[in-house]
Amino acid sequence: MTLVSEAGVEMGYEVDCPHCRKAFLGTLLAGTAARYRGFKCPHCRLFVPLERVESAVKHAGAAPAA
Ligand SMILES: [Zn+2]
Repeated sequence: MTLVSEAGVEMGYEVDCPHCRKAFLGTLLAGTAARYRGFKCPHCRLFVPLERVESAVKHAGAAPAA
């Protein structure tokens, strides 16, 4: 079967930075190891590991929790 290629689709996550506590929409950075997967906070430039925010993170486009 043939599916339309979705190459270039970005994984957007709404992340609350644990350092500056500001929310930002982050694109998941693919690292060479699991611990290098995460986001870079545009406010304080801290690298936020995915596993650090995984419980709080939610896919962009999902219904707001609050
Ligand atoms: Zn930050």
